[in-house]
Amino acid sequence: MKVTEHIEKAKGNTLFSFEILPPLKGQNIQAIFDTVSPLMEFEPPFIDVTYHREEYDYLDAGNGLWQKRIVRKRPGTVGICSAIQSKFKVDAIPHILCGGFTKEDTENFLIDLDFLGIDNVVALRGDAVKSETYFKPERDGHHYASELVTQITALNQGIYLDPHLENSNKTDFCIGVAGYPEKHMEAPNFDTDLRYLKEKIDCGADYIITQMFFDNQKYFDFVDRCRKEGITVPIIPGLKPLATARQLNILPHRFKVDLPDELVAEVLTAKTSEQIKEIGSAWCVHQTQELLKAGVPIIHYYSMGKPDTISDIIHRSTL
Ligand code: FAD
Repeated sequence: MKVTEHIEKAKGNTLFSFEILPPLKGQNIQAIFDTVSPLMEFEPPFIDVTYHREEYDYLDAGNGLWQKRIVRKRPGTVGICSAIQSKFKVDAIPHILCGGFTKEDTENFLIDLDFLGIDNVVALRGDAVKSETYFKPERDGHHYASELVTQITALNQGIYLDPHLENSNKTDFCIGVAGYPEKHMEAPNFDTDLRYLKEKIDCGADYIITQMFFDNQKYFDFVDRCRKEGITVPIIPGLKPLATARQLNILPHRFKVDLPDELVAEVLTAKTSEQIKEIGSAWCVHQTQELLKAGVPIIHYYSMGKPDTISDIIHRSTL
């Protein structure tokens, strides 16, 4: 079922959904099942599965020089989605990137998803890899997520890359895209970023999932600005509980999100890692309660293989 249909069916009740990462290469899918299983009690409308591509330095035995190679340390997004759908009877949503994909790769990827009965995708550009200053698309790939959305929308209309394919099957993907309550790190300003977000919707995206934020006001303001920009699709807030002191630096650095003073001060006075985890969870409980009160359609948790923390947060938020 499509994400938009789940939202309609819920008739104003807030749902809880979860994002998980594929296991590192060489590890077993059981880790995924163990993560998803405890989250099923919340009857999630969907589980998202991320897609990864990273750069890796290796010593070329032939010439003794260090080389760079793009690798996938966490392959298996499509297989995991299919396995989750059949094991848990829940919609699984693969993330699909511009990075590393030619248009033909994208088309073939989407055909696989369609054959596997996957109804939703999240269309993303992906980040630049380590050695790139700016994101570089494949030679025949997409530069921006809006172009990827356009290709998916075309396939939904039965338009394949080969224009001679007549009477071809139409796919019917519901398309999610990313939104940034604190603006995307590369955008020159907020208004420009919003205009490009609107472009993704105009190209056929059906809903937005936000980057994590730790101050709900940033989400509420973002929704207001989107509505003023003419963006009417559901905007699903994404939450991640802070769990370690290191994240005080990592999260702003990697995701360009701000951490509120009060949260930082609490973490800095904590004596143990357990206390820090509890401060992060309590903060996330408060965020969840406020978002529930505001009647958001879905709260999406970046669960990062920590189902117990997320379960605890939802239980405490809904007591
Ligand atoms: P875009 O929408 O293409 O925007 C990228 C930048 O380009 C923005 O600054 C935008 O303002 C600008 N822009 C857009 N269109 C134009 C245009 N026409 N001309 C000029 N500028 C333009 N990354 C992964 O690698 N794997 C994942 O699974 C993954 N999942 C994610 C899930 C969520 C919910 C979020 C929020 C992010 C996720 N990311 C993931 C990270 C994402 O790939 C990065 O944030 C990436 O840098 C931007 O992706 P995007 O789809 O938002 O890009």
